[in-house]
Amino acid sequence: MSIITKTWTEDKIRAIIRKLDEKTGLNGAALPIAFNCYGESLGYYRYVEPKAFGFNRKFFNGYFTSEAEVIDVIRHEYAHYYVDAAHLERYIGHSRRETSHGADWRWACKMVGADPSRCHDAAAFIDRDWTVEEATAAYNADDVVNFDILSYLNRWHQIPADAETASKRLTHIKERIPDSYYEAGDEVLHPKRGFGTVVDAIPHDYWTQRLYIRFEDRSDGVFDAKDIFKIVDGVAIPYGTVRR
Ligand SMILES: [Zn+2]
Repeated sequence: MSIITKTWTEDKIRAIIRKLDEKTGLNGAALPIAFNCYGESLGYYRYVEPKAFGFNRKFFNGYFTSEAEVIDVIRHEYAHYYVDAAHLERYIGHSRRETSHGADWRWACKMVGADPSRCHDAAAFIDRDWTVEEATAAYNADDVVNFDILSYLNRWHQIPADAETASKRLTHIKERIPDSYYEAGDEVLHPKRGFGTVVDAIPHDYWTQRLYIRFEDRSDGVFDAKDIFKIVDGVAIPYGTVRR
């Protein structure tokens, strides 16, 4: 039984999708939604044109269907849409043995708060008795992190490392080669582009960061820290230099 929505409609589903869009910067709410009865299938996202969402009206409005289940089904399909809209398969390995529920889809699930299991597991929702506050939070996607995936990919051409990996890598660099560790505001020298300032830095691999740099001539770009000199006390320090 639902706490807030007694009867699900296409509009109400679209409102849930719009709330997710507000967090992801995507535009899933613009897609058509087929809200019919589709036998066993609870929902789908159609990758091919015309792209669309589809949801099972009978399941959504079933007496034993909880709000938590409905919202998870919407988020599950939204995660498929997310993979498609962001072309996540270009950034996250997707082995050929995997169906549409590969590593890229699981990553998207994490970003939109969907349960990353391929098949809906009703048992997992049995003890999820939401209070009105919890249900409202889920409707509003309060638990979904605000992250503009397309601008991030556009700038960095990689997906962000998870927080734990990121902090491990940064600590590693900071401790071993502090003069090659970057933060926003650091002054740098690129052999061809000249002097510039770090606008943003992200961990790249175990030893380096990627730097978004604005140069004195107002041009900008993303570079591997290995190709950059850091200006420390007025001196240009090559990557990997350890002071003695
Ligand atoms: Zn699926």
